[in-house]
Amino acid sequence: MLEAAVKPRIVITTHHKPDADALGSSLGLYNYLAKLGIQANVVTPTDYGDFLKWMPGENSVINFEEFEEKSADLVADADLIFCLDFNALKRINNLGKLVEQSRAEKVLIDHHLEPEGFEDYRLWTTKASSTSELIFWLIELMGHVSLIDEEIASCLYAGVLTDTASFKHPSTTPTTHRVAAMLLEKGAKSNRIYEAIYDNYSESRTRFIGYCLSQKLQILKEYNTALIVVNAEELKQFQIITGDSEGLVNYGLSITGMKLSVLIIDRTVARKMSFRSRDTFPANEFARKYFNGGGHFNAAGGESGEALELVEAKFKEAIKEYKNLLN
Ligand code: 5GP
Ligand code: MN
Repeated sequence: MLEAAVKPRIVITTHHKPDADALGSSLGLYNYLAKLGIQANVVTPTDYGDFLKWMPGENSVINFEEFEEKSADLVADADLIFCLDFNALKRINNLGKLVEQSRAEKVLIDHHLEPEGFEDYRLWTTKASSTSELIFWLIELMGHVSLIDEEIASCLYAGVLTDTASFKHPSTTPTTHRVAAMLLEKGAKSNRIYEAIYDNYSESRTRFIGYCLSQKLQILKEYNTALIVVNAEELKQFQIITGDSEGLVNYGLSITGMKLSVLIIDRTVARKMSFRSRDTFPANEFARKYFNGGGHFNAAGGESGEALELVEAKFKEAIKEYKNLLN
């Protein structure tokens, strides 16, 4: 026990298909712990986009799907597991069962609504723009802002930048801007980070976006809803890889008058859906009710094991209930 107290075995994990906030908060915490002389392991449930691979510490991340046994051992033997940027164990796929079974103490750091409560300790509020902002708060609470270096700052800045959609979402508060400003003072290079994430698309990804917008976009006028449904054949045709469809759902909402934008993608294991809404349409409630999902009020996701055509039909049926809200 003393050994564990002196040298705790720490795992940091985050949601499947990590985005910049999931990976940025994890590596921000990882690099911060390293500064304290504490070695941790970041274990992700799946792979993630190439546009995140510049993050300091990324080369030490362990992908559960690739290194199942090693990941399972680390989780089983851990004293402490940090669970970042997710509110329910099913968000980390098969890793969820292992985390649940581990005798480690679990710390949730998250900003999603309604955490299911598997953790022992929690740093949680929906008032934070991002989990990366919460990691900054944690470091500040510890009195360690002086320890933040360019590496920590770059990871956290990436999470704040992307989870606020470049400081656009209503979750962006004066505090978010102050945190971002401090991260810039600590050496994060905003232009470099922006470029690495947003100006770093493959040619096929760019053509895929064009194809979806010109050929696949449906406007459901009665519901002020934009819908894009992409089948497996199209994903193959454009050589779509992890991360390539990120952001695509936002285009629908940039059309004047649209209240809801939906993307349905035919992934091999399931049909994955993304919802973005404006004003009073509760995207998370809708995702939870019909598509086994959840998320934030205006940005949510879900999935279905049914065939693509059935999922599309089910969606078109389900929004009928929300006609008044969408008009
Ligand atoms: P995205 O559309 O970018 O995949 O996800 C948008 C938001 O919805 C994210 O904040 C994520 O936490 C949440 N989300 C996405 N997919 C799911 C899901 O299958 N279940 C739940 N509970 N939340 C999801
Ligand atoms: Mn997040």
